[in-house]
Amino acid sequence: MQKKIIKLTRKLVEFKTISENPDELKRVVDFIQKRYKDKNVFIRRYEKNRKPSLVVTFQKTKKPKIFLNGHLDVVNAPDRDFIVKIKGNRLYGRGTADMKGPVAIMLLAFEYFLKQEKKPSLGLLLTCDEEIGSKDGLEYLLKKEKYSAKLVINPDGGQDILNIINKSKGLLHLRIESKGKSAHGSMVWLGGNALDKLISRYTKLTKMFPKPNKKNLWKPTLNLGVLRGGEVVNKVPDHAEMFLDIRITEKENMLDILSKVKKVFLGCKVEILSKSDLFYTSEKNLYIKKYVEVLDKDLMVRPKFICEHGGLDARYFAQKNIPVIVNQPRCGNIHGENEWIDIKSMNEYYNVLVKYISEVGF
Ligand SMILES: [Zn+2]
Repeated sequence: MQKKIIKLTRKLVEFKTISENPDELKRVVDFIQKRYKDKNVFIRRYEKNRKPSLVVTFQKTKKPKIFLNGHLDVVNAPDRDFIVKIKGNRLYGRGTADMKGPVAIMLLAFEYFLKQEKKPSLGLLLTCDEEIGSKDGLEYLLKKEKYSAKLVINPDGGQDILNIINKSKGLLHLRIESKGKSAHGSMVWLGGNALDKLISRYTKLTKMFPKPNKKNLWKPTLNLGVLRGGEVVNKVPDHAEMFLDIRITEKENMLDILSKVKKVFLGCKVEILSKSDLFYTSEKNLYIKKYVEVLDKDLMVRPKFICEHGGLDARYFAQKNIPVIVNQPRCGNIHGENEWIDIKSMNEYYNVLVKYISEVGF
């Protein structure tokens, strides 16, 4: 199986599937779709804003028990990174880890069941815009096309088969603008300082977000990323702006937080730049427990549950209360130079997937 995994990963990496390259996105989806031509499966293809998506299922349904979910787009890299290099136990190249390697494994696991007489309730759900926010891919498929599942497997985080990501914080990016009145710096009483206004209110807001203790990082946070305003030292600024990055856990409510911020910054303009929901799957979920059992039996090690601090596609499923297993082979340097994935770990992940689906997919 190892050879097949390497071969398919190599092939997928060769497509330069950056989001500004719709022709390559189309080509990679064509390539995968062709694998299932004249096979005993149901294929549905979508395209929104030149971002194609592909869904392949064994049964004619939009709601199989399990969806194997992945994205085919990658972040940009020099041309040489789109050729896989093998060094030692690793494959190097753009997308080997994020996530064409994991997608190759999912395709091969799906194809394993394709050859079996009795098919699990299983589907592949592949999109092409994860790196730029998933609007035309996953969000469209779940909201407009009403795809759903009892469980989703999304090997797009964790960077080790021993790490299961079961939570990632919700995010709120805000731009806050204040207006004041300009005056000469020697006569401040004639002006209204727009920067002062933001600073004093921000100080108030920080009280709502105490810095998390290192032992428990699963707490809401606030970061002041940008503060701008004023022109020269001897003038009262009449205009200022501030950019805030707020992260929340399942214990907070996004709308609640937003209305609190607006209250603190009363009289200022509060603009939402971006917003993404939180992802949370309980460690006590039965599907997760079963997955831990399979890892335990197969690899004889107990995996760790960790939280990731970035946006994950898993959050879209979480909105629909669908549990997601985010776990992947050992890999590293994601989005960076020398992105890599461990070959032995890919093989292990394949075995875990096949075994797990055999146990829970029927
Ligand atoms: Zn990814």
